[in-house]
Amino acid sequence: MALNDLKAPIAICTWGFVAANAKAGEELSKGIKALDAAIAGVSVEEDNIKNTTVGKGGAPDREGNVTLDACVMDSNGDCGSVVCVENITNVAALAKRVMTETPHVMLAGSGAEEFAYSQGFESDNLLTDSSKKAWEEWLKSPEYKPLINIENHDTIGMLCIDKDGDIAGACTTSGLSYKMKGRVGDSPIIGSGLFIDNDIGGAVGTGMGEEIMKTVGSFLIVELMRNGMSPQQACEEAVQRITRKNDHFNDFQIAYIAINKSGDVGSYCIHKGFTYMKYQNGKNENIHSDHYVKS
Ligand code: ASP
Repeated sequence: MALNDLKAPIAICTWGFVAANAKAGEELSKGIKALDAAIAGVSVEEDNIKNTTVGKGGAPDREGNVTLDACVMDSNGDCGSVVCVENITNVAALAKRVMTETPHVMLAGSGAEEFAYSQGFESDNLLTDSSKKAWEEWLKSPEYKPLINIENHDTIGMLCIDKDGDIAGACTTSGLSYKMKGRVGDSPIIGSGLFIDNDIGGAVGTGMGEEIMKTVGSFLIVELMRNGMSPQQACEEAVQRITRKNDHFNDFQIAYIAINKSGDVGSYCIHKGFTYMKYQNGKNENIHSDHYVKS
């Protein structure tokens, strides 16, 4: 396919993160490469203190610590990840530094935080007054029950195709609210929360990370596309790998978005209510995903 037919650039992201996706689209339109555009896009939500599921302002674990997870994957197959990081807001950018400035793929906890300072990142208090209040309220009758479609936003996972037709992505989250100390979900795990193969396409997930990890969801979607499925078919099959094996799917949400090398996009989730953003040809749309549970 000629690059002109692709109508690149394209940016897609989980949930209705209008400003974040617009930022990525603008960066791509200026000729910025896919990975840097995705990082610029997701950083809008990392900086947004009203978003209680990503970056600064994210909900803490049950002990009151905000710990962030993020990963990035580039079109050449390189990737970087940080898990359980405190006091650093822009963890997707930090994951890129792990990719470019270290011999490793993943750094955790205090090691990731110290590395961030060595790279010029600044320390910040990620627990906002309102997140602290909500956590104190939760402590009054502490029950761990992740909500389906938290305030209609969650983890932000973003996939970009740049003007050269190259694909990259980023995924960043504060994880599930009131998780156990040290808990890490799918979002920073390459292949679970995010996977890119520049010859085929990319996928990202959001929702109950434990279930995404058990099925290596994003890698699965890219492999299904490699074997001929459209992004839509691949997202549906990846969701159904979970619903077929887990009788409790009524209790949690899983949602995927995917894009292939031709710029076709797909999305599927278990429960109604998941939306995603798509930027193409200067238009930034919020699209409702089809869902598995119909009633
Ligand atoms: N997938 C994220 C996690 O399990 C949370 C989410 O997307 O809601 O940490």
